[in-house]
Amino acid sequence: MNEWQKRDLRYIWHPCSQMKDYEDFPPIVIERGKGAYLYDTDGKSYLDAVSSWWVNLFGHSNDRINAAIRQQLEKLEHVIFANFSHPPAIELAEDIVRITPAGLEKVFFADNGSSAVEAALKMSFHYHQQTGHPRKTRFVAITDAYHGETLGALSVGDLDLYSKIYKPLLLNIFKATGPDCYRCPFGKNRENCDAECFESLGRIIEEHSEEICGVIIEPLVQCAAGMKIYPPVYLKKLRALCTKYNIHFIADEIAVGFGRTGKMFACVHAGISPDIMCLSKGITAGYMPFSLVVTTNDIYSAFYADYTELKAFMHSHSYAGNALACAVARESLSIFAEDNVLVQNERRAKIIADKVNALAQGHSYIGEYRQMGMIGALELVEDKISKKAFDWQKRIGYGIYRLALKKGVLLRPLGNVIYFMPPYIVEEEDIDLMVRVAFESINEYFGI
Ligand SMILES: *Cc1c(COP(=O)(O)O)cnc(C)c1O
Repeated sequence: MNEWQKRDLRYIWHPCSQMKDYEDFPPIVIERGKGAYLYDTDGKSYLDAVSSWWVNLFGHSNDRINAAIRQQLEKLEHVIFANFSHPPAIELAEDIVRITPAGLEKVFFADNGSSAVEAALKMSFHYHQQTGHPRKTRFVAITDAYHGETLGALSVGDLDLYSKIYKPLLLNIFKATGPDCYRCPFGKNRENCDAECFESLGRIIEEHSEEICGVIIEPLVQCAAGMKIYPPVYLKKLRALCTKYNIHFIADEIAVGFGRTGKMFACVHAGISPDIMCLSKGITAGYMPFSLVVTTNDIYSAFYADYTELKAFMHSHSYAGNALACAVARESLSIFAEDNVLVQNERRAKIIADKVNALAQGHSYIGEYRQMGMIGALELVEDKISKKAFDWQKRIGYGIYRLALKKGVLLRPLGNVIYFMPPYIVEEEDIDLMVRVAFESINEYFGI
C-alpha cells in the first residue's frame, strides 16, 4: 500500500464495498483523468470501460465541458431555486422538453438519481390524492428492478443485495415478475416475442388498478440487475394499460438516458411517452451530481392552485437547479448535436459487437453476450446448457475485475456479468484493449 492508500483507509468509508476487502485490495487512488483513461498516483493507467459508474459520456477532463464550467463559474455557481432562477436552468429546461418524448413539458430539478426517483414517486402519489383518487396509494415495480438506494427508491427496487435488510422500513408495493430474456420462461427470444411475460404485470394492474398510482420501470435495460435487456413491446403494453387505468408510467431513464441504448432515450425505441421521466447519471457527462424529473402538464396542473389550498409540491433539495450542473448539461447536449454522437455511436457499438462476438462464440463460460447501443454484457454461467448461474459466493466477477485492473482496464462487474459501458469517445484501439483484456482476464481466471 502506498501512502495515499493508507491515508484513504484511515478515514474513508467507500460506497458499495465490504471495507475488509480493501485489506488486500486497497483503493486505487486516481490523480487525473484524460479522455477514456484514468491515471493513479503511481502513474498507472486504466481504461474506464464503465464510464465511472455509467456517468461519463465524453471522457474525463473534456476540454469543452471544462471550458463551459469555467465560463459559468465566472458568472454564477449556485443560487436558491425557490423564487429564483438563472439562464442555464431556463435554457436547459427548454432543451430537455425539446428532446424528450412528446407530452413531457415540465421540468423539476433535483441532485442525484435516487432523489429524482423519490420526487417522482411523491409526485405520482400526490397527484392522485389531489385529483379525487385517494385510494391510489401503491406503486408497482418488477423483479430485478433497481431505482436507487434511498428508502423510497429501495422500496421499488428488487435487488436483495441492496434492500433485503431494510425490508421492514420499506413501502408496501406490488411486485410483478419482469422480463428475463436470457432465461425466457416462454421459450421465446428477444426478436420473436410479443412480451408474453407482460402477463404478470398486466394482471396486477388489471386486478388492483384502483389502488395503483404508478408503475416504475427501467426502460429496455435493467442495468444494475446485470444489463438485462428486454424488447420495446413490453413498454408498449405497459403504456396502454397505464393509460386505460389512470396509472402513471414512470420511466427511470437514469442509466439508459442520454444515448446509452442507441437512441437519446430508451422510451424512443418503443415510441412511447411516459408520464414521468427520471434523468440523471449521464446528464452532466459525469461531472456533477444532478437530476431532473420531467413530467406532463396534466400532472403539473394538479398542483397548481391558490397557496392556501395547500396543493403545492413542497419537495426541495438545497442544490436543486445548480447553475454549474445546468451549464455542464447544456454543453453536453451541444456536443451530442454538433458531433453527431448518436450516429457515431452506431459505428462504435458495431465495433464492440464484432470484437466481442468473435471471442464469445463457443466460449465455455459465456452463456450470453447481449448488447444494446453502448451497453454490452457478458453473462458468465457455470453450465451453458442449463444456464446455471455461478454461486454468488464464488465472486467470479470480482476475481475477473481484479485481474483486468492489473492489465489496465476498469471493468467493475455486476455479480457474474462483465459489462462494457464506455464513454462515447472510445475508438477502435480503446475497444480493442477493453475487449482483449476482458477476455484475457476471464480466461486467466478460469485457467483456459
Ligand atoms: C444509478 C441509478 C439510480 C440511482 O441514482 P443515484 O444517483 O446513484 O442515486 C436510479 N435508477 C437507475 C436505473 C440507476 O441506474
